[in-house]
Amino acid sequence: MSHNAELSTRMLDEKIESMDRGDLRSYQENRLLESLAYVERHSPLFAQVWGSAGLRAADISSLTEFEARIPFVDKDTVRAYRTTYGDPLGGLRRMADASALSSTTGTTGDPVVLPVGHGDGVGLARDWWEIGVRPGDAVAFMLFTFRGPAWLTPHALGASCVLFDHHPSEFDRWCRASLELEPTLLYLLSGPLIMAMAHMEQTGVLPYALAEVFSSYKGVVIGGDHLGIQARHDLERWGGEPFLHTAVGDVGSATECREHDGLHASEDTVFIEILDPEGSSPVPDGEVGELVATNLVPQSGNPLVRYRSEDLVRVSTAPCRCGRTGMRLWPVGRKGDEVVIHGHSILPMDIWRAVESVPESAAGYFQLIRTGREMDVLKVRVGHNATLGGRSPTSVREDLIGAIEASVGIAPEIDLVENEVLLRLGPPHKIPRVASS
Ligand SMILES: [Zn+2]
Repeated sequence: MSHNAELSTRMLDEKIESMDRGDLRSYQENRLLESLAYVERHSPLFAQVWGSAGLRAADISSLTEFEARIPFVDKDTVRAYRTTYGDPLGGLRRMADASALSSTTGTTGDPVVLPVGHGDGVGLARDWWEIGVRPGDAVAFMLFTFRGPAWLTPHALGASCVLFDHHPSEFDRWCRASLELEPTLLYLLSGPLIMAMAHMEQTGVLPYALAEVFSSYKGVVIGGDHLGIQARHDLERWGGEPFLHTAVGDVGSATECREHDGLHASEDTVFIEILDPEGSSPVPDGEVGELVATNLVPQSGNPLVRYRSEDLVRVSTAPCRCGRTGMRLWPVGRKGDEVVIHGHSILPMDIWRAVESVPESAAGYFQLIRTGREMDVLKVRVGHNATLGGRSPTSVREDLIGAIEASVGIAPEIDLVENEVLLRLGPPHKIPRVASS
């Protein structure tokens, strides 16, 4: 184990995790200047982007200058480099500098390959320590296999990992391994997987009672979408405590602490800007803005600088009850997901609860139909379980219209489909929340 935290302490790196925010900014500034020099040498993409803006890494001598002068990039910048130069890594780094090839999930388009460097990321290790993972523990890993060197985090904590695919076909093996090895953490579950687990429980095909299976777990990390009411209810019924988790601009991640009051980011490794989604001015704490991320340790992670994630978040920099001083995030949606109907802005998150409130669509599978940002009619495709309760599609549709109108003030048009139709649109842990037709 690379850290010296006492087993009983709550923070793995107390000095960093509870650092005064003024000191944190100086710390970030020092790391940033080193990072820029590294990225310029090792990333053909950034050398080109900065070169065409007439900039050298050495021209930047402070965070303020960085914020004023360094150009933004996004997934399309990486895709364009990949197409122009035929480089599968999009110029982010050279293959010889990569230790693993991860990728974005491809929910909103062609996945982008993210070449991970050598070294160990600390962010997840701190999150897991807070949940209660200690040296000698087993951690159950149920993640998509393409997501990079997953075992580094358990190793950083002196824990072992047992690997499963993010798929219901693994539940049988996972149940048995959970009872035998008594893992303390499950990383990670998602809404669709919890729904599949509940379905298999109902139909009696799981080999053990889920309350027994979950009894060794101190926490279950939740990835993908917002956790719906039904999925949370099922998980808590089995005794699993959910910890929400999100990516921080494909550079790092953020996870809830045991206070469950926002997702903690590791700001010593990622510099986070919350900006006007249509521009470049900073947005104050508490207001919705786009998360823009810069890796402060590009040697080990994805070398991204001022990367516009298109993720809309609210943040707070006030200290958390757990004592951490790092930024806390509350994800609210994706930049391209907003629709404006007669001047009312609506994000998928705004109608989630309404969809879940109708029993046949309690799984929360739906898509906004978005033909442009501004539209005259709110159109929603909703997945439902037709075998439940035996009500007619007409009355399910009427309930949905009523619930959505009560929640956003606009009566929608509803296209009712089977849940499976939407689940087929995966990646397995989430579905696209917006469709063009
Ligand atoms: Zn906290």
